[in-house]
Amino acid sequence: MLFSSIPGLTSIKQTLIKGVQNNHVAHAQIFAGPEGSANLAMAIAYACYVNCENKQQLDSCGLCASCSKYLKLAHPDLHFVFPYSTTKLVPKDPTSGAFLKEWRSFLTNNPYQNLSQWGELIGSENKPLIIPVEEARHIIKTLSVKSFEARYKSMIIWLPETMRHEAANAILKILEEPPQKTLFLLVTHAIDKIIPTILSRTQKIIVPPFTQEEVYQYLKARYDADEKQLNNAAYLSEGNVNEAISILLQTEHEYRSMFRDWMRLCYMLYKKTSHLIDLNEWVETFSKLSKDNQKNFFQFGMHILREALVYKATGHQLIKLPPEDLSFVEKFSQVLNEYLIEKIAQKLNESAYHIERNANSKITFMHTTFYIASMFKTP
Ligand SMILES: [Zn+2]
Repeated sequence: MLFSSIPGLTSIKQTLIKGVQNNHVAHAQIFAGPEGSANLAMAIAYACYVNCENKQQLDSCGLCASCSKYLKLAHPDLHFVFPYSTTKLVPKDPTSGAFLKEWRSFLTNNPYQNLSQWGELIGSENKPLIIPVEEARHIIKTLSVKSFEARYKSMIIWLPETMRHEAANAILKILEEPPQKTLFLLVTHAIDKIIPTILSRTQKIIVPPFTQEEVYQYLKARYDADEKQLNNAAYLSEGNVNEAISILLQTEHEYRSMFRDWMRLCYMLYKKTSHLIDLNEWVETFSKLSKDNQKNFFQFGMHILREALVYKATGHQLIKLPPEDLSFVEKFSQVLNEYLIEKIAQKLNESAYHIERNANSKITFMHTTFYIASMFKTP
């Protein structure tokens, strides 16, 4: 993880980088920040920078032997400890090491996720996730082995607040007198829950929540959503990137199932297996959405139809859709040819435009529905 992959937070990055450049690398540091902040990403980027063989002014080089292993989260001197429980796959004596594969994919997917998402990924089935005392023994053992190749051996402990007391006590000594060239980076969401004996041995780095603008930039670089949705998610997230992503995907999820149901309704209207009364219910539901959401809904539909066109042209290996969408697109592209799919997409575009121009939403929706139903008739 590079500093540049973390949006904003320029002054913290500068402080950390300057410290390394001036040879002030405290061996035990705690990165404290709320959920959805960059504390974990920042700790990894920092360890990467400390070990980079060709440090740049503002970031690691990203290319040297150390960086390339760090970027894959697979450096032999980079160690992670995090909370876990027993799971179906690891029913006995779990350790952080047993979940390393899941951990790497967790971080690669989105390093701003929270503990319950982690629990879900490893299949903890709502059992409490903790760092048990056995893990502390592993930490001591791992650090007593000489480092393989890195300048610093890094031990990153995610959520030390989940450590059992015995575990926390067990690492106190090594935290105070670590082996040469060892970097202890604790990453917490709840600094007030860290026992004082640990806190007093660590240097504190406070990572604030992201600004709304930083969240927006992060989303914009990764998600194909319109400005308003991005802005809305960034605004509602209160600096929590993880929350912003879930708001964004939730909206998409709702549009998804609604669009599928609507297309089914159009098809049933054509088949005359649906009644106008169903349509009326739909019109009511649609008219209760905000103007933005009505517009977004039509635009989302266009997006799915474009996927259907790609599907017709190439087969499914080229399109990136979740399985439930893919099966919908498959069925949909069986009943309509490319020309008609394109026509419907154009219609949705027009309808979104009309909504924006304050057209009556009930009439627009009804009109669009009849138009799409009539398309099924066309061979
Ligand atoms: Zn490097």
